[in-house]
Amino acid sequence: MTSWGRYPYHTLAAHPCFWQTQLPDSLAALQQTYGTTLPYGNGRSYGDSCMAASGHALAMRSLNRFIHVDWVQGRVMAEAGVTLGEILALAIPQGWFLPVTPGTQYATLGGAIANDVHGKNHHVRGTFGRYVTQCTLLRSDREAPVLCTPTQEPALFAATIGGLGLTGVIATAELQLLPIRSSQLTVQQTRFDTLDAFFALSATWDAQREYTVAWIDCLATGKDAGRGVFFSAAHTEDGALSACHDTRRVMPFTPPVSLINRHSLRLFNAAYYRAHRHDAQRQVTYPSFFYPLDRIRHWNRVYGQRGFQQYQCVIPDVAAQKTIALLLQRIAQSGRGSFLAVLKRCGDIASPGLLSFPMPGVSLALDFAQHDALTRELFPVLDAIVREAGGRLYPAKDAHMSGADFRAAYPQWEQVERLRDPALCSHFWQRVIV
Ligand SMILES: Cc1cc2nc3c(=O)[nH]c(=O)nc-3n(C[C@H](O)[C@H](O)[C@H](O)COP(=O)(O)OP(=O)(O)OC[C@H]3O[C@@H](n4cnc5c(N)ncnc54)[C@H](O)[C@@H]3O)c2cc1C
Repeated sequence: MTSWGRYPYHTLAAHPCFWQTQLPDSLAALQQTYGTTLPYGNGRSYGDSCMAASGHALAMRSLNRFIHVDWVQGRVMAEAGVTLGEILALAIPQGWFLPVTPGTQYATLGGAIANDVHGKNHHVRGTFGRYVTQCTLLRSDREAPVLCTPTQEPALFAATIGGLGLTGVIATAELQLLPIRSSQLTVQQTRFDTLDAFFALSATWDAQREYTVAWIDCLATGKDAGRGVFFSAAHTEDGALSACHDTRRVMPFTPPVSLINRHSLRLFNAAYYRAHRHDAQRQVTYPSFFYPLDRIRHWNRVYGQRGFQQYQCVIPDVAAQKTIALLLQRIAQSGRGSFLAVLKRCGDIASPGLLSFPMPGVSLALDFAQHDALTRELFPVLDAIVREAGGRLYPAKDAHMSGADFRAAYPQWEQVERLRDPALCSHFWQRVIV
């Protein structure tokens, strides 16, 4: 198994678990044989946070049964290996949606909790962990499964939300869903020419719409610098409640070298900008708004054998405008960067978790084809800018952050380390803490 970025190149063997009753024995056996292990959801984390330090992971995807649903209250309880897409397939026809969703429906319930994922509505709903009403944890040092809620085992609950899979194996969890009248969305798209215009659009639309996000041309320089497309959306008030089934294309093989290079990127970015009319409104299905990348199975292969890294940071509001401009300038100068550079304003709704990534401010995310120069030259420059601005990087996407940066940006790491299950450790945690 690999992580989504297929970098760093650690070997990872899967030890699947099929039944909840098997979990205690599987955990004990892996600990006894390899020292530590780590639950692995569906490998949609980009860096090494989903990679067991021992090279032997407890594969959770087969624990994928629904346990209980309440369509009056909109609550669903399921095993942790159920994917977000599987929850949507069940919930949408009943008039319910995920309260928070990341940009892929292939993340599992357990993985979404362990990274306390956020979505395009962070400014109004906060993170995924706010909607987890309870979860059961299996720990190597506890006899029985531990029921964690905001009031029962509250310290363990808080450490588990965004706890990077280190505080125990989540066997089941209950989620409060969001009521909807239609599975379609009305999307308003607006082109902008400068970064200042992005901030102005964000201030206007965040107050009016459930979902906002922007694409930015990270390679544009000169008069084109800061251009992009701003999207705001809301569920439509009437229409069908239909879960869309996949008609996916496949990237069938991994080319020897990345198909994404500065020439193809420049062409793509310019074409993408031009393809979006200045001001337009349209109705779309939920997968095309939330999960455009999921349409191509194994799209991560386009980056070739060496894989890729995502750089996602969040910059506090007070410094956001100046700092994002500087980051984009340095990235454009480097000539590297992605066809999907995403800007999103995060709101001030606190997460119940200890290591949650978002903070009030602006998040920037970009993919880079793996190259040694990234960690040697570009990332140290970007890291210094983020550090100076009081921002931080997202562990779910990270493969390079220094221990000092992580510990400074996530001061509550010590509480998580105190509650870490001794049988669990990731390459990420080994890199930044152990
Ligand atoms: C195309 C794409 C778009 C994305 N967009 C976003 C986004 O908008 N916002 C965002 O926040 N993230 C985003 N992500 C990241 C992704 O949502 C997270 O990394 C998510 O946690 C992946 O879930 P997974 O089930 O694949 O878990 P994995 O990647 O396999 O594991 C993630 C973490 O969860 C832990 N874990 C998994 N299962 C369990 C369990 N049962 N018990 C305890 N711990 C467990 C693992 O140990 C690991 O630490 C995106 C990823 C992709 C590929």
